[in-house]
Amino acid sequence: MDNTQMIKDELIKHNIKPSLIRIKVLEYLKSTKEHPNAEKIFKKLSKDIPTLSITSIYNALKLFVGKGVIKEIMIQEEEIRYDGANERHAHFKCIKCNKLYDLKLKCRSCLEVTDLNKVKILDEHIYLVGICKKCIKKETDL
Ligand SMILES: [Zn+2]
Ligand SMILES: [Zn+2]
Repeated sequence: MDNTQMIKDELIKHNIKPSLIRIKVLEYLKSTKEHPNAEKIFKKLSKDIPTLSITSIYNALKLFVGKGVIKEIMIQEEEIRYDGANERHAHFKCIKCNKLYDLKLKCRSCLEVTDLNKVKILDEHIYLVGICKKCIKKETDL
């Protein structure tokens, strides 16, 4: 099965009609580790689809988030980025290069939360801030 067919199937599985724009948006999000924002997705895809509008990107993203296909990640300055990765993971933001990295989580429940049994958890965002390996190396090389 080719990649486009897999993307189509995933959309259908979430009750979303697989239009060209939706397929392209999800395909791009699955292919990148960059956690792009809407503008970046727009810039990237408008090269292939000249008639594309930023509104259609926002609409597709909103739909995907609502149906649980992708995740919305809030970082500083109210910037929203999008993540197409399916596996549970944490995010690490480097304050030097501004990159957002995925970190694998080993444990089932890494957080010991009291009162956890009183709430129903629907979503999880683990967000760490620091300096990445590359930037540490750059600093020590100076
Ligand atoms: Zn860095
Ligand atoms: Zn991620």
